[in-house]
Amino acid sequence: MTRTVLISGASIAGPALAFWLHRRGMRPVVVERAPTVRGGGYPIDVRATAVEVVERMDLLPALRAAHIDMRRTTFVDTRGRPIARITPDEFTGSPEGRDAELPRGDLAAMLHERTRDDVEYLFEDSITAIDQDADGVHVTFRNAPPRTVDLVVGADGLHSGVRALAFGPEEEFRHDLGFAFAGFSADGRRGLDREVVVHNTPGRMAGWSAVRGQAGLIGVLAFATPPGFTVDPRDVAGQRDALAQAFADGDWEVPGLVAAMRSADDFFFDTVSQIRMPSWTAGRVALVGDAAYAPALLSGQGTSLALVGAYVLAGELATAGGDHRAAFAAYERALRPFVERNQQLATSGGATLIPRTRTSLWLRNRVLAALPHLGPAKRLLAGRVDEAARAFRLPAYAPADGPVVA
Ligand SMILES: Cc1cc2nc3c(=O)[nH]c(=O)nc-3n(C[C@H](O)[C@H](O)[C@H](O)COP(=O)(O)OP(=O)(O)OC[C@H]3O[C@@H](n4cnc5c(N)ncnc54)[C@H](O)[C@@H]3O)c2cc1C
Repeated sequence: MTRTVLISGASIAGPALAFWLHRRGMRPVVVERAPTVRGGGYPIDVRATAVEVVERMDLLPALRAAHIDMRRTTFVDTRGRPIARITPDEFTGSPEGRDAELPRGDLAAMLHERTRDDVEYLFEDSITAIDQDADGVHVTFRNAPPRTVDLVVGADGLHSGVRALAFGPEEEFRHDLGFAFAGFSADGRRGLDREVVVHNTPGRMAGWSAVRGQAGLIGVLAFATPPGFTVDPRDVAGQRDALAQAFADGDWEVPGLVAAMRSADDFFFDTVSQIRMPSWTAGRVALVGDAAYAPALLSGQGTSLALVGAYVLAGELATAGGDHRAAFAAYERALRPFVERNQQLATSGGATLIPRTRTSLWLRNRVLAALPHLGPAKRLLAGRVDEAARAFRLPAYAPADGPVVA
């Protein structure tokens, strides 16, 4: 039976996997580069099958309590006058009250809290080398002494270090969808409550998000990127400069957004990208969540795929009784159609959120303005997300799922 599984990354996929491995009798260890679980991040969605995973973790009440219950998104013109108003279910087609939306950092903290008494966490550290043979994986770290473990799992996101060490350079697997996105905290509420306000110019999107329970706002800046545009994850000052340059002549409330972006301490910026790989496993190393199959934020499904992927990977490892080859093959077989279906959601979304030309922006605004009047037809337009989010039947693995009875 596999005993020790070293997981890189303590955001969503990492702690969720650690939870399920521990529940199924294995010993997970999590290594995270940051000094603590990272806060911040734009609100993320937990939908359909992923809600079921959270329920089986006994975290559904906490998830429901953290739901920010947004009322609407308003698209405004340069002077702040509404062009169109959309409710969340008109975006996703999911029945009200079933899915949850919450700040990414809150979900990460929730998962960490649920696992920290049972799981060893190594913060402010990362894996520097992976050397595997028939007996195990020999791992070296930036700070901690070397260890030999049975398996290594990369849950370290779009720019996964484990993927680079065990599968090859990021460029082989990353597909940029032609946009970059920034999210950051800002002071003040501007009279907004449980709503998003968005202003577009061709190729650019700027907005505020007023989240329930937060004193300030979340600012959003996103733009269509020129060919070959990349983000250096280590160069935060360079990221802020690139954004300020992209919005240099911005109207509406863009100058205030740029100023807030400059001073925010939870600034997040990245290209809108997918990870597509022919295989998510190599020998004793596997990937889960964004590291393996980032669907891009346009799909709104990154967090749900991470939660479902973690559940399935741990379940298959337990079912295979230590045979990681059989477990990894079953993990890929079970999850790949679900992943591919959800990745398809993102490929056309950018043109809707950030139209590149004046004509396409005009057309988009007309469609949005008409949406509330379309009756049942709007469900046909929006139902794609909900259908994709439900397109996987969660297997039952032993020992039985559900709340642990002490
Ligand atoms: C700070 C932050 C803010 C985010 N904000 C947004 C957002 O606004 N909108 C959005 O759609 N998505 C955002 N995301 C991505 C979103 O969380 C993921 O798409 C999704 O939740 C899947 O999660 P994941 O656990 O697979 O990957 P991620 O959430 O990306 O987590 C990866 C984790 O691995 C850690 N890590 C990275 N490299 C290493 C390494 N070499 N060694 C050790 N640890 C490492 C990171 O610090 C992070 O904690 C954000 C992620 C982070 C970390």
